[in-house]
Amino acid sequence: MTAASALPQTLVDRFGRRVSYVRLSVTDRCDFRCVYCMSEDMTFLPRSEILSLEELAAVGQAFAELGVDKIRITGGEPLVRHNVIELFETLGALDGLKELTLTTNGSQLDRMAVPLRRAGVRRINISLDSLDPERFRNITRVGNLNKVLAGIDAACEAGFERIKINTVAMKNRNDDEILPLVDFVVARGMDISFIEEMPLGEIDDHDRAEVYMSSDEVAEVIRQRHELVPTTETTGGPSRYFRIPETGTRVGFISPHSHNFCESCNRVRVTTEGRLLLCLGQEHSVDLREILREQPGDMLALKRAIVDSMAIKPRGHDFNLQAKPVIFRHMSVTGG
Ligand code: SAM
Ligand code: SF4
Repeated sequence: MTAASALPQTLVDRFGRRVSYVRLSVTDRCDFRCVYCMSEDMTFLPRSEILSLEELAAVGQAFAELGVDKIRITGGEPLVRHNVIELFETLGALDGLKELTLTTNGSQLDRMAVPLRRAGVRRINISLDSLDPERFRNITRVGNLNKVLAGIDAACEAGFERIKINTVAMKNRNDDEILPLVDFVVARGMDISFIEEMPLGEIDDHDRAEVYMSSDEVAEVIRQRHELVPTTETTGGPSRYFRIPETGTRVGFISPHSHNFCESCNRVRVTTEGRLLLCLGQEHSVDLREILREQPGDMLALKRAIVDSMAIKPRGHDFNLQAKPVIFRHMSVTGG
């Protein structure tokens, strides 16, 4: 038995990196099938294998008590999880948590934006790769652009402090929409981050190396029309930010390939089946579900397992687009 007093107040790994940010995946299911994220035909986890809302809340509480001050809810599509608002309400009331946030595909936001805001969510990220309805459908395979745009409008009206669009930049897929997407966010006072595609899970739609577009290439396109002023601002995530002068917009770049962000990594992930993943691009993990189910209510055991996991957090990922994927988990399982 470990005394509560023997537990540290903060999480620090063996490379001296302080872990203050957790991404919690609340479902592996999704109403879209984005080409870079999923294969067309996905098998989802049986319900008994995924954490209940109470178990997810316990995980959130354990991390908050260990000094984590930011939790991002993700998935799959988090807003398709039944009663997920209850989880936002519970987590939103945790002591010590400075920020509860969300990454969503926007499909449910028209009805969920207001309840989310009321539950204490101040900032959200919405994924959007195209403003063309047909192309949007092709990239998401099933998504309806108008529904997502209505969701973005609802989020703007619900009074979130910041809304950020996430766009996976892909050559010959949406590279001609970089400037229209920037115009779209500037007109609404939102931010945007462009993401380099990561080799997570087998996909059948395209060769990832062929569509790869580096953040520098995206920035070059934006500079044709806008000045990008570097800023040291951070939102606690891996984005490097620039400001577009005379607008309220920040442009971020998430560049796992061209500007490795591992050195300053401050986060871990918990998959929907309760696997604590120490790195997005490696398999080092700890099974929190086993503890939750074998020792229900034992917060000390849960926290001890989280503290001990710091000893196996790897130095970094080694993504390689040319090689066959070494990480077989899809992003929807990992929690993006
Ligand atoms: N369903 C929600 C959404 O799409 O926003 C949340 C989960 S999704 C996995 C989180 C983010 O990961 C999205 O912005 C998505 O574009 C991104 N993503 C998914 N697969 C990716 C990949 N292979 N490489 C880079 N980003 C990816
Ligand atoms: Fe679903 Fe998000 Fe993956 Fe698209 S990126 S398939 S919306 S989980």
